[in-house]
Order: sequence, then structure tokens, then C-alpha cells
Amino acid sequence: MTELRDVVIVGSGPAGLTAAIYTARANLSPLVLEGEPSSTSDQPGGQLMLTTEVENFPGFVDGIQGPELMQRFRDQASRFGAELQTVKATRVDLSSRPFTVWTSPDGSGEPAVTTRALIVATGAQSLMLGVPGEDLLLGHGVSTCATCDGFFFRGQEIAVIGGGDSALEEALFLTRFASKVTLVHRRKELRASKIMQDRAFANERISFRWSSVVTAIQGETSVTGIAVRDVDSGAEEILPVSGVFVAIGHRPNTDVFSGQLEMGDTGYVRTFGGSRSSVDGVFVCGDVQDDVYQQAITAAGSGCMAAMDAERWLEVQGR
Ligand code: NAP
Repeated sequence: MTELRDVVIVGSGPAGLTAAIYTARANLSPLVLEGEPSSTSDQPGGQLMLTTEVENFPGFVDGIQGPELMQRFRDQASRFGAELQTVKATRVDLSSRPFTVWTSPDGSGEPAVTTRALIVATGAQSLMLGVPGEDLLLGHGVSTCATCDGFFFRGQEIAVIGGGDSALEEALFLTRFASKVTLVHRRKELRASKIMQDRAFANERISFRWSSVVTAIQGETSVTGIAVRDVDSGAEEILPVSGVFVAIGHRPNTDVFSGQLEMGDTGYVRTFGGSRSSVDGVFVCGDVQDDVYQQAITAAGSGCMAAMDAERWLEVQGR
């Protein structure tokens, strides 16, 4: 007989683990399916596992390393009785309650667990360039979040990769710190909205490197430069920068819920007041439903909301 839980949480970033802390303290004995490491950029604990110093999470006056912060979230959730399993949800059935979750690699065989309420906190992944040096230097000069890491590049020359609104937003933000920001874009025109383009063109600290792709990120322990190739002429050049912000888009981790939860045009899970999803009893929090703020603190806040929404919903169900 497959085990029946009150609450299963899928995902173990700030959203999932905050939901775990709250539901555990509400005596709901949550089970957290925290995921399995499948690549450097896909780790239990979410994107903070790929970050070095976190200076903007309230309460840590002197900052804290991303992985240490996530370990503290885990310890706090465990302390109140949350159970964490290092497995991935590979298939779910949300068509009837209780919901069913499988964790076998191909989603076949016996289900792992059934649950009255499900909290989805699977996060999003930054799309990466996939060039040599990128994995090695992620968190050591390569970043996907200007709000998180811009401060560390005060007075330095940096590059932003991409031509969409995110890239321009990152570039504009980074001009507060960097002495020079070079935006490297693979085409001759930007994808970003006109207003963002106007702002970027008007900012004298931003220069543009058109029709150029990054072929490698250089450096042993920190970034010393990027190799860029002009796609028209084929000419290669090294740009001597100490920071690279990759801003070529995000992908929410929704594969397992595809066709079962309603998603918006950009692929993020849609919520309907608080954390409620299109399926009664399924609550969604963190970056998988947020294409705007995407911060650890906002993810944690929405994890709290999902926990409280689930708790109230279970109460209405007579639990
Ligand atoms: P996006 O609009 O999809 O833009 C991605 C950019 O990265 C494009 O310029 C694309 O080039 C480039 N790119 C993609 N893959 C690449 C690769 N492998 N190598 C080099 N370049 C690559 O993504 P986004 O900028 O993250 O924005 C996502 C959505 O959020 C958009 O709807 C955007 O308008 C919205 N957003 C709005 C704001 C705002 O209004 N302030 C801020 C951020 C985001 P191509 O142009 O050649 O395809």
C-alpha cells in the first residue's frame, strides 16, 4: 500500500524549505522530495547552491555563503520534523485526490507516495551558454543575477550576455557598480523592449558588442576574460573582464507537471490568489511561478504562503 501523506513538497530551494518549516511546525509532517544532483547547474537546494556570497538575505549582517544558507534552511526544516528525501519527482498524477507521485527514474512502477496536498517548489533554471570555463567559474565571476552579485564588481569591467529585457535590466543595474559594462549580443538588434533599449543606449557606461558569441570564459579561480567571436567575420578576440553576467533567459522546472497545471504564456505555473494553482489542493511557490522577482527572499516568502494556504485547505477538508 502506498504511503498517504498530508503534505508533499517537491523542491528544496528557499521556497520548498520554507514551506517545509511552516508545515512541519503545523504538525503536518511534510515529506520534501528535494531532487537529485544531475549536473552542476541542477542541484537540490536550488540556485543558491551555485552562489557564493549572499549579502541581501535579511538577518545575515555580514553575508553568508549560498550553500551554507540552504543547509540552515534544511536543518531548520528537519528540526521540526520535515522528512527530506534526495529523489526527484519524475511523474505526478493530479487528476484525482489524493495526488500520486512517482520517483523512479522513468516514472514507472509503484508510486512513491500519495498526498492530500501538494506544494510545488521546483524553481527555475537560468539558461547557460554551455561554453568552456562557465561551469568552473560559476559563482567565481560568472553570475546569473546582477541583484545578487553586482556589488562585488565595484569599479571593474564586466560583460553581460544576451539581448532581451533581462540582459538590459542587468546591464543597467550593473552600471551602478562596474566602471564599464559590455553587452555581448549574438545579433545586430536587441530583442528587448524599446524603452529598455533607449535607456541602455543612453547610458554611457554600457557599450555594445554586436553579432558576437562567447566561445570561452577564461580564468583558473576567477574570471580574467571572455573569448568572443564575431559571427560575421569569424574574428576572435579576448575581452578582459572580471565578471560575466549570463542573461539569456530562464526556464521554469515544470516538465513533470506539464498538461496538469495551468501555465502562463512564458511557461511559468499560473497561480490564482495566494499560491493556489489550477488544481484544487496543489499550491505553488517560488521561481516556478515567478518570472518577475526571482529572489531567495521572495521565494521564501511565497513558500510561507503556500504552507499556510495548504494548511487552511487541509483544515477545510477536515484534516
Ligand atoms: P528573452 O526575452 O528570451 O531574451 C533572451 C536573450 O538571450 C535574447 O536576446 C537571445 O538572443 C539571447 N540568447 C538566447 N540564447 C542564447 C545563447 N545560447 N547565446 C547567446 N544569446 C542567447 O529572455 P529574458 O530577457 O530573460 O526575458 C524573458 C521575459 O521576461 C521576456 O518576455 C521579457 O520581456 C520579460 N522581462 C521583462 C523585463 C522588464 O520589463 N523590465 C525584465 C526582464 C524580463 P536572440 O534575441 O538572438 O534570440
